[in-house]
Formats: sequence, structure tokens, C-alpha cells
Amino acid sequence: MHEKPLVLDRIDAATQVVRQWKQSGRRVSLVPTMGALHEGHLSLVRQSAAQAECTVVTIFVNPTQFGPQEDYQKYPRQLERDLELLASCDLQLVVAPSADQLYRPGHSTFVEPPAVARPWEGACRPGHFRGVATIVLKLLQIVPADSLLLGQKDYQQYRVVQDMVADLNVPVEVRACPTVRDPDGLALSSRNAYLSGTERLRALGLVRALRTACREYSQGQRAPQLLEESLRRVLGEHEVHQIDYAVVVDGHTLEVPIRASDGCVALVAARVGQTRLIDNMRLVEGT
Ligand code: AMP
Repeated sequence: MHEKPLVLDRIDAATQVVRQWKQSGRRVSLVPTMGALHEGHLSLVRQSAAQAECTVVTIFVNPTQFGPQEDYQKYPRQLERDLELLASCDLQLVVAPSADQLYRPGHSTFVEPPAVARPWEGACRPGHFRGVATIVLKLLQIVPADSLLLGQKDYQQYRVVQDMVADLNVPVEVRACPTVRDPDGLALSSRNAYLSGTERLRALGLVRALRTACREYSQGQRAPQLLEESLRRVLGEHEVHQIDYAVVVDGHTLEVPIRASDGCVALVAARVGQTRLIDNMRLVEGT
């Protein structure tokens, strides 16, 4: 068992603790989350503990990244359970602030996100990445970490944050950690809790579509259009018809054409019942 982390709800207290660590030469790593933690989040915390002396997890459901029709109100909030789950990990600080500390009355300053935020999620969820870029920068101001760990599960978010910190000269290293999946392949997500039993089976269409594209790519298929047809075919076989996008794009620009040096990534977003799910996979050369 690890020592229990310090749990703070005041951001000024959190900054003070982190500054002290940094002054004593300790490396600090930040794992931002919206809570409703699962094994995917915990894997980020473990990877953080392996590379930094001090791991900070933030738990904050960020209102500015939700659209007006989205699930901000019903997003699962379960701090006690989250803290129990974190007890199995080696971390030093949990910061779970109230919204009024992050968005003071009259708050009106936002980060204009980088170009990579425009397509896909950015087009489907106007304002989403503006909210993400803003909260990530704010959290890095509060917790001036040496490294920031994000999940590859939200691949475009990772690319947005990577470009945002580079463009704004934020001295932090951004790392992407592999997507954690259930044994049947479904990518873990806090939103999976919304799925009924039959919806969960249909949701497997996302991972199966991505695996099909991976297989075809490794067998030599390079035409994004044909790979996209396969994505849509497999989604359809699972009765996933409300597809926001199912594309194969450059891993860096998230656009076509694909530049060989960066490899490519298949991105999928679709609605299963009322639940919107996203997933992605890097497409790599076969052996
Ligand atoms: P969220 O709480 O959904 O904002 O996610 C917090 C962090 O956990 C983000 O960097 C996500 O990309 C990451 N994450 C979410 N699901 C997974 C997963 N299944 N595997 C790995 N990382 C994940």
C-alpha cells in the first residue's frame, strides 16, 4: 500500500505545495482528469509515478469544454470513489477544486486553440477545444508541472495540447499514454457508464472498425478512402449508423495528405443510442 495522497480543494494551497516540491528539485508530473476514474486514468497515474517524484491528479469537470446540449450536468461526479481508486496508485497530491475558483465571476479570457483543433472533434463540438486549451493552461498555471500526461484515447486533444503549449512557450513536456481497453476491446471511458447492455455490444463496432483498418493498413492498403470505407462498413455491421466522422489522417496535422514521416491515425466518433463515443488507432506498417 502507498502513502495516502494529500487531497486539496483550494488551488492556492495546491500551488504552494507544488512550488515547494519544485524548489527542492523534485520533478512534478500532472495528470488532469474530470473524475469518474477508471483503469485508463489510473494507468496515466502509474506512468506518471514511474517518471516523476511527485504526481498531481486534478479532478475537475470543466464546464467550458461542454456544449449547451452536452452532458455537463449529468457527467458522473464521484469524488469519494475516485479517491478510493487512487489509493492503489503512488501519487502525492489530488486537487479537486470547485468551479468558482477556476472561473471567477466575470471570467472572460480564453485560449484560442491551435489549427489542429479545427477538424473532427473541433467541427462537431464547437468551442470544445477552446475550453480544453483554456483549462489545461489554467491547470498548468496552478500546478507548474515538468510533464503533463494525457491519454492517446483523446488523440486530437493530445495534439491540441501539444501545439498549444509549444505555441504559448509553456515549459512542460506533453506525453501521450496508450489507450486502456476492456478485455473485449472497448476503450475505457467515463461515458461507457451511460450504455445499456445492447448498446455496449454495438459500441464494440468502434474498436472492431479500427482494428480492421489497422489490419488492412498493415497488409499494404494505403488509400485513406478505402480504409474509411472499411471503417464505415464495420460500424454499420454493428448498427452504428450515427457516425460523426470515421477518417484516416496524418498523425500530426490530422489532415489528408498523409506525410509518411508522421504515420497516420484512424479516428472515429459515433453515437450509440444517446451516448457519443470516440476512439482511434495509429496505423502502422506491417512486418
Ligand atoms: P477525462 O477524465 O475523460 O478528461 O480523461 C482524463 C485523461 O485520461 C485524458 O488525458 C484522457 O485522454 C485519458 N483517458 C481517458 N480514457 C482513457 C483510456 N481508456 N486509456 C488511457 N487514457 C485515457
